[in-house]
Amino acid sequence: MVEKMNSKKKPQLGTQSVWAGEKVSLMQNATQVPIVNSVSYGYKDLDEWLEVAHGKKEGHIYGRNTNPTVDVFENKIKKLEGGEAATSASTGMGIISSTLFTLLSPGDRIVSIKDTYGGTNKIFTEFLPRFQIDVTLCDTVDLEAIETEVAKGCQVLYLETPTNPTVKIVDIKRLAKTAHDTGAIVIVDNTFATPINQNPLSLGADLVLHSATKFLGGHADALGGVICGPKELIKQIYHFREINGVTLHPTAAYLLLRGMKTLELRIRQQNKSALKIAQYLSTHPSIGHVYYPGLSSHKGHDIAKKQMRGFGGVLSFEFKENSLDAVKRFIPHLRYAHAAANLGAVETVVGPPATTSHVECTAEERVALGISESLIRYSVGIENTEDLIADLDQALSQ
Ligand SMILES: *Cc1c(COP(=O)(O)O)cnc(C)c1O
Repeated sequence: MVEKMNSKKKPQLGTQSVWAGEKVSLMQNATQVPIVNSVSYGYKDLDEWLEVAHGKKEGHIYGRNTNPTVDVFENKIKKLEGGEAATSASTGMGIISSTLFTLLSPGDRIVSIKDTYGGTNKIFTEFLPRFQIDVTLCDTVDLEAIETEVAKGCQVLYLETPTNPTVKIVDIKRLAKTAHDTGAIVIVDNTFATPINQNPLSLGADLVLHSATKFLGGHADALGGVICGPKELIKQIYHFREINGVTLHPTAAYLLLRGMKTLELRIRQQNKSALKIAQYLSTHPSIGHVYYPGLSSHKGHDIAKKQMRGFGGVLSFEFKENSLDAVKRFIPHLRYAHAAANLGAVETVVGPPATTSHVECTAEERVALGISESLIRYSVGIENTEDLIADLDQALSQ
């Protein structure tokens, strides 16, 4: 096996998206990463088998634990995030729950924000408390409140930025410093930003994780999750994951790897389009408010400018007429958008939080979270910017 990344100068993100972590398969000289669907790996030599089983020699034993295709996927994200090690799971929620149940024990305390992904919020409110783990969820944009709670002492500070669906921004560097003063581990869900726009580890986070289902894969055809950070922590999370069994399938790993080849190209286009669309919508007479961290009117714009290289492909907006009815009338007119629950795909995807990110909440709970009934999440695809703006324009005029 020959590592293809041996030049001394660190390649740029576009080059890394294509080459990082990939190894030349010597078998049949294939240039592309093979899908290894084998569940087990045979050893005639029992001593060698034992060495591999005890991690003293490279190799694989059983598919629930490790797999050559999955290894390449983990290596690529590890290089893009600049971490020491990475491990994966079958879904984003698989890696999030594995991580939290690895790091927390009864009597521990975790501090997080109110605007985390819906599934993550369910772990916080429904499952962790059953194991006597104290969960404190702070107002996402109230930095002082988060710092006060963290200073009281906690084992984990869990952040997500930008958030879903109102793309709020959290100051990773400042909060990581506060958390480290109390000895807490800092985790950042980097799904919305991707490693092209933001590297939480370089801002002081201990662990960075992704729902690879979204931008990393980029084609809405494979589920996956991945986490990256120091060897010792990743080893512990991997150990829990190999036992609870939410293993990433090699075929999914292959699809995610194939998607990631174009990650930098896609994100560059999506950053550019999202900003133009946000600017266009801001001036439209039917639109009440546009949420996008690239707009100078956005509350988190200054922090976003400091910690992100681009503002991402997701924005949201609400109508002046604040009703779900207005959303129902608008969405069917869009020609270039799937009305669906996912995001981060090559196609533009649109949906109201009432049926996507916050489907579990009641209308009252959504209002309490600052999500109005006419809010629409718009995940920009890789279509030409002008066509997307023209599409929005004709749908808004109906
Ligand atoms: C979708 C999503 C998740 C969960 O990922 P799955 O792959 O659907 O399990 C976690 N965090 C964020 C920010 C997401 O958008």
